[in-house]
Amino acid sequence: MTDDRIIDFSSYEEPIFNPLCDRKTILDLRRRHLFAFNKGLGQNFLVNPRIPWQIVRGAAIDEEWGVLEIGPGIGCMTYELAKAAGKVVAVEIDTALLPILAETLPYDNVTVVHADFMELDLARCLPEWFGDRPVAVVANLPYYITTPILMRLLEQAPPQLRRITVMVQREVAERLCAPSGSSDSGAISLAIEYHSRARTLFRVPASSFLPMPKVESAVVRMDLRDEPPVSCCDEAAMFRLIRLGFGQRRKTLVNALGNQGGLPKPLLGDALESLCLPRDVRAERMTLAQFAALTNLLKTFKDPDGEPVL
Ligand code: SAM
Repeated sequence: MTDDRIIDFSSYEEPIFNPLCDRKTILDLRRRHLFAFNKGLGQNFLVNPRIPWQIVRGAAIDEEWGVLEIGPGIGCMTYELAKAAGKVVAVEIDTALLPILAETLPYDNVTVVHADFMELDLARCLPEWFGDRPVAVVANLPYYITTPILMRLLEQAPPQLRRITVMVQREVAERLCAPSGSSDSGAISLAIEYHSRARTLFRVPASSFLPMPKVESAVVRMDLRDEPPVSCCDEAAMFRLIRLGFGQRRKTLVNALGNQGGLPKPLLGDALESLCLPRDVRAERMTLAQFAALTNLLKTFKDPDGEPVL
């Protein structure tokens, strides 16, 4: 990963206090509430108080903002968010954590909601919870569903969602921030580039978590765009092409779209050539602007029966 940190916290030397980022506290809560870590729910809790502090500063929110936290765990990040934001809603799926959160988060501006984030109707919930405040998502994401969570936020959240600051696995952070056309890119990179400007803020060593995961993590911040950076006449069709192209990323785009998408291969080859792209180009070599141009062009093509090919 290139060192593209936008925030340098090295000059902040003062000790940082967070009562919920402490091994003893976590183990005591675990014992008193008969709680067991649920690996299947991605439960690796932060035990380094500097990390939630840095994440909340990196998210750059103040009391004007509403914050949606996905997966508060025992509440160590929520503790920092409660001090910074106007209102915090923390959505936790694990019933076993609810009595713990009732004990650890006695703040007027924090509401814990027991729900599976993937089942929330964001277009209804965000205005209901936050009124007309700008909303940020700030979370140490459960790693087993990072991509579905991000796709849901990008595709379904109303425009009041302005920023997403999340901790993810380091390799995933690299993919999220990879520019389209680079070999690290994937379908998720293009979705993120379309909807936001994304940066890696800093890395987090595995030793910052309990239990300790096998991989390093990194914090990524996405500032949502007012307008997409490319002009495409059919966004859904473009993302269908992107998904199909990356679904078989070792194949040429012509073969991937022809085999899985049922598009006529000679016509695809002609379309690529007329956009000055090689007929054997692969999805990972295509920029977002080129996918948009390909979509716009294919939308003008008809099959022999006069039906649109896309
Ligand atoms: N925020 C805490 C921290 O940083 O220490 C805990 C983060 S832990 C990596 C992920 C949290 O997400 C866990 O509390 C887990 O139970 C919760 N979680 C997992 N899947 C979820 C889902 N679908 N909806 C809401 N919360 C979920």
